[in-house]
Amino acid sequence: MSNKKPRVRFAPSPTGYLHVGGLRTALYNYLFAKKNGGKFILRIEDTDQNRFVEGAVDNLIETLNWVGLEYDEGPNKEGSVGPYFQSERLDIYKKHAEQLIAHGDAYQCFCTTERLTELREKQQRAKLPQAKYDKLCLHLSKEETEKNLTEGKPHIVRLNVKGGDNVIINDIVRDRVEFTRDVIDDQVLIKTDGFPTYHLANVVDDYLMGITHVIRGEEWLTSTPKHILLYNAFGWELPTFAHLPLLLNADRSKLSKRQGDVAVEDYKAKGYLKEALLNFVALLGWSTSENEEFFNLDDLIEKFSLERVHKAGAIFNVEKLDWINAEHLRKKDKSEILEMLKVELAESKYKDLELKDEYLLLIIEAMLERVSFVKEYIDNSPYFFERPTSYDETVIKKRWKDDSVDLLQKYIQKLSLLDNPTKEDFEIALKQVAEEAECGAGRIIHPARVATSGVGIGPGVYDLLFILGKDEVIVRINDALKVIPEIKERINQQKQNT
Ligand code: GLU
Repeated sequence: MSNKKPRVRFAPSPTGYLHVGGLRTALYNYLFAKKNGGKFILRIEDTDQNRFVEGAVDNLIETLNWVGLEYDEGPNKEGSVGPYFQSERLDIYKKHAEQLIAHGDAYQCFCTTERLTELREKQQRAKLPQAKYDKLCLHLSKEETEKNLTEGKPHIVRLNVKGGDNVIINDIVRDRVEFTRDVIDDQVLIKTDGFPTYHLANVVDDYLMGITHVIRGEEWLTSTPKHILLYNAFGWELPTFAHLPLLLNADRSKLSKRQGDVAVEDYKAKGYLKEALLNFVALLGWSTSENEEFFNLDDLIEKFSLERVHKAGAIFNVEKLDWINAEHLRKKDKSEILEMLKVELAESKYKDLELKDEYLLLIIEAMLERVSFVKEYIDNSPYFFERPTSYDETVIKKRWKDDSVDLLQKYIQKLSLLDNPTKEDFEIALKQVAEEAECGAGRIIHPARVATSGVGIGPGVYDLLFILGKDEVIVRINDALKVIPEIKERINQQKQNT
């Protein structure tokens, strides 16, 4: 790399949402810029009028803000090379197209859609490897072209691909990739509506915005020879290219909406942490030599390099994302989780409960190893927010014994004598009852758990009882004693009948 500070860009076409592949491209550009003291630019490639989606740009910027990939220049953050919306740069593209025409590197083409379709069909029938424009309009005389233009005949501008050496891409990820010129079509540069195509606008902007490294998805690799020809025609120095591997579904097909979510906002809505998403997408096509898996953004900035981006397609594995999410959640400050949990509660059916922070913090601590998402603090342990409305029959079948009622009654009697029992007090009392009844503690633990939570799994039973508190535990056990014996009776009956 030259000692010039890198300038990189994320150049999405606003299609309505940020694709996870786009997030990866943005992230790698961001990391590369931050690591090397460079600038990260956001450029909106919005020249395709047919694909205009209301609100798409705001949504995109909001999503980038949410994950914390702050750009140095771009919409609402003008630098010296703006505007950063391509739709506001039309004159620039027009001027550059004219420059190419003047030098014979581009030409106006007046062919009708009918002719082009016919040509394509003819070439297909002749089984040509690739349908290409036949350069008919390149050979129009100056006068003919002028006449057509004055008559206002609809036209486009095409790149004039001339014969010559193979076009070579020296790509950081893919190494050397070579294209023969005969596979490169006389690409459209300006469309009939006067708007530039992706190719022209992208190259002109990358040059004018001083982009040093073009880091983008592999799907753009076949466009790169066209871009190189454009750089050559303008006499501009090439940027360094790095094409990132494709993202694949588990069956190695291209990542698609049909097999799962692809919009970052969908993952956000499902409760994934931004740290986890960034960590996960960072690993889609890149790894450290030690194959580490857990990173925060600062680690990534420190460790990222384009040289360690892989060629092979990267499988999008949601189970891994879940695992990473759980890891990030566990490493968070409890106070941060508390705030997130309060937000989740405010959106849940428990929104009217008045719960003390201390209470929620105890739940957070007790459930930490049992949740991957903040909302699982609610979904996996609703018993902290409401009394059980039912009792798990498989647990009753297995764990509720003839002496359960008696043992639980003894237990609540003991509890009722305690003043503000600690977690240890709950344990000591339970063990005393077990000792007096000459049975194992499990004989009380399991019935106590199902009676107070309705289910057979959860945090440690003494955590559960302590968090619920003495009074609540006594109420719940009393309630359960009115219901569970009948359930057990019914189960026994059913067993006899079968
Ligand atoms: N507008 C293109 C896209 O939507 C940009 C590709 C590139 O980075 O050159 O991804």
